[in-house]
Amino acid sequence: MGFVTPAVKPVRIVSSLFFYSKSTIIGMAVAVHRSSSAFVLSLPKAELHLHLEGAISPATVLELKKRHGEAGSIEDVARLYRSDGFNGFLMAFKEVTGLLRTPADYELITYRLMEQLKAENILHAEVYVSVGVCLWRKQNFDAIFEGLEQGRERGERDFGISLLWIFDAVRQFGADAAMEVFQQAVKWRDRHVVAIGIGGDEQKGPPELFRDAYGYAASNGLRLTAHAGENAGPESVWGALNLQAERMGHALTAVQDPELVEELATRQIPVEICLTSNVRTGCCASLPQHPVKDYFDRGVMITLNSDDPAMFNTSLTREYQITQDTFGFTNEHMRELARNSFEASFLPAEKKLEFLNLFDAIAARA
Ligand SMILES: [Zn+2]
Repeated sequence: MGFVTPAVKPVRIVSSLFFYSKSTIIGMAVAVHRSSSAFVLSLPKAELHLHLEGAISPATVLELKKRHGEAGSIEDVARLYRSDGFNGFLMAFKEVTGLLRTPADYELITYRLMEQLKAENILHAEVYVSVGVCLWRKQNFDAIFEGLEQGRERGERDFGISLLWIFDAVRQFGADAAMEVFQQAVKWRDRHVVAIGIGGDEQKGPPELFRDAYGYAASNGLRLTAHAGENAGPESVWGALNLQAERMGHALTAVQDPELVEELATRQIPVEICLTSNVRTGCCASLPQHPVKDYFDRGVMITLNSDDPAMFNTSLTREYQITQDTFGFTNEHMRELARNSFEASFLPAEKKLEFLNLFDAIAARA
């Protein structure tokens, strides 16, 4: 998939967008989301499956390279972000995280992410940080976390965005490494760290390995997520359910097991759908083959997400648009999916209600 968003018709801005001046919206929206309809853009949204390191725009990657005295061109970044297949993606992810060396780097990418969230009318995000990678690189995570928090505070102040952190462990690094990540999450849980998760290669790190680490995180008040059923079969999703994961990242292969889909629907376990990601990594053969509509029709609580938007040349509004255009979701369905994104969040009850009330007031006019 190409790197530059193709020019489609310009976005029409509707008056129900809030928090922004009209000129700001036009400038940002046209630059980032040429292919999204005004309706999709106007829906207030939350994003629950979003990797900080996968959301670094090519321009910011170049800025980081320059900051660290490395040569590079926009074409190099484009080539890197075009890497296809699951391993290609993991390699690109590794290369980009190699540019994140100082607290200031983390502050920069957090702030830029929040700027993008604002442009898409995303009011709240729960953002994965690959703490497993930081620890693997022997970085001073205490200092990095200060950078993350400074970026978050500045972004909250300047853009009015709510953001919580999810600390992500790397499956293939094993159970001990995951435990170290979750210990960091416990250490910082009073500073906007709400949950933990595991990502990476499911085949090299099956869920059973992480039972103790998940038990530790849960008993210390953290919420539980897991990437599951992305590059492994439905047994991996069952395994994540056994870990007591409260939200399921991808669950793409759950469709192979009707009993599992039934279980997800009955228990209303939110599934974080990432359409473009699944196609780009080759985990899903083609967009029309994705089970998102099947899940929806069978009563699974789904949310739409961009996963690694910069790397996959997408955005959350684009994911909404693709969902509607490819699978025939009505505007009413789209409102339901956007509402789900707040409902499935890990916000405290009072704050969640506040967002839901706000959503209902605005979406009724969208
Ligand atoms: Zn992910």
